[in-house]
Amino acid sequence: IQNIQDVRSLIRFIPDFPQKGILFQDIFPVFQNPKAVEFLINHIVDHITSTIKEKIDVVVGLESRGFLFAPIVALKLNSAFAPVRKEGKLPGNTINAEYKKEYGVDTFEMQEDAIKQNQNIIIIDDLIATGGTADAAGRLVKKLGGKVLEYIFVIELTELEGCKKLDAPVFSIFK
Ligand code: IMP
Repeated sequence: IQNIQDVRSLIRFIPDFPQKGILFQDIFPVFQNPKAVEFLINHIVDHITSTIKEKIDVVVGLESRGFLFAPIVALKLNSAFAPVRKEGKLPGNTINAEYKKEYGVDTFEMQEDAIKQNQNIIIIDDLIATGGTADAAGRLVKKLGGKVLEYIFVIELTELEGCKKLDAPVFSIFK
């Protein structure tokens, strides 16, 4: 793995998953190659440290593939990690936010004590499509008093213009 394009070449396109007509972008082949994972994580961390001057307090990862990146990035930044999960999965006191899926509505939750007032937050997921998922996570962070400094995605489906839904800068590695 010499450069970020070598990482990109490992992303696999699966037609008709999870439904007919959808071309699914599968990042798991990247994880077959530890050098590629290391390159990708360092790429994200270098981006953050070179462009954001504030200390990142919490890196938030979105269930479930956001969990592949957010905790490692958090560790490298010496920041906390906090999960956003689907309804009913997190114990203790939680807050929730709804978002639109292709069919119907889904609910995301965070633990109430995951973020404190005025903390600086980065939100990470594997992919942004319509932006509904990331937007719901952003609303949860704001409800808890956190400030979203940036949304980070490994893949952005640019034609869906999901970034327009988000009210903080977006960094996506593969467009
Ligand atoms: P959005 O809410 O429309 O932006 O959809 C983004 C969410 O759907 C993310 O949590 C992604 O993990 C998931 N997603 C949608 N399409 C794909 C795909 O092709 N590959 C991997 N994840 C996807």
